[in-house]
Amino acid sequence: MTAKIPQLTCNTGTRMPAFGFGVFQVPAKDTEHVVAQALEAGYRHLDTAAADENEAAVGRAITASHIARADLFVTTKLRVQDAGELPSRDAFGRSLDRLGLDYADLSLIHQPFGDYCGSWRAIKALHHEGLARATGTSNFYPDRLVDLIDHNEVVPAVNQIEAHPFFQRHGDLKMMRERGVQMTAWDPLGQGRSDLFDHPVLTAIAKTHDRTAAQVVLRWLLQRDIAVIPKSVHLARMRENLAVFDFSLTDDDMTAIAGPDTGASTAFDHHDPASVAFLGTTRFTT
Ligand code: NDP
Repeated sequence: MTAKIPQLTCNTGTRMPAFGFGVFQVPAKDTEHVVAQALEAGYRHLDTAAADENEAAVGRAITASHIARADLFVTTKLRVQDAGELPSRDAFGRSLDRLGLDYADLSLIHQPFGDYCGSWRAIKALHHEGLARATGTSNFYPDRLVDLIDHNEVVPAVNQIEAHPFFQRHGDLKMMRERGVQMTAWDPLGQGRSDLFDHPVLTAIAKTHDRTAAQVVLRWLLQRDIAVIPKSVHLARMRENLAVFDFSLTDDDMTAIAGPDTGASTAFDHHDPASVAFLGTTRFTT
């Protein structure tokens, strides 16, 4: 049986499934099949990105699924190489072409670098034209997000950032709540780094609920009102991850999970000049 996935209401009124499927790092040759399996498992929210070069395969899986467009929620992201008003507008059109869609449910600025204000003007216009049902940001730390909000008239619907037990983002979440921005966690399972699936705090809690550590982590994020987009290439894990809507973590569980926070990224440091340069100079084939 497919789980009933709660919907979150964004500040645009757009409804977004709180649980999505992340496609980053699925091998290119497997992407169409893996996304088809995710749809079969009950996922209806797909997270893709121009920079991940997986939009075309995601689009093929969507077309082959014959699922009604209105029942799907598709997110894509504008890469930093396409920053600026006109380049972003053109790039968004190419994303829609690759996806084979008439509109995106959510268009995000992937990185807080380059002319992101120009990109924001482009996707605001695309939103008004109905081509991007909701618009938002990704990887915007609080200072960049406040900059964007306070100097533009449209508040992002979503900010998608790294979040997992080792980098919990309490301050970011508080600020986003105050500003009406929905937080989505990328890397919700921390890609399994730092032995996340065997962490003693998580496995102890998992045991009391007869669940896995992965399910505990996803449930913990959802109970903080954070949307999640875990990735797996295995159908059994896709189903396992989605099976988190029939149990709840206690207040004591939530307090215990706060323990492993390091307050720092375990994936990518957006404040490191070498990382910023790396993102800006990466070349793509599409
Ligand atoms: P996740 O935190 O989702 O972890 C994925 C890893 O965990 C994979 O190695 C997967 O292995 C494994 N895994 C998944 N479920 C289980 C399970 N139940 N038990 C054991 N292992 C499991 O990492 P991602 O980096 O993929 O993040 C999720 C999504 O976030 C991405 O796919 C992408 O869409 C988005 N993202 C966005 C970024 C941005 O800049 N906006 C940056 C990075 C990610 P296996 O596949 O073998 O099951």
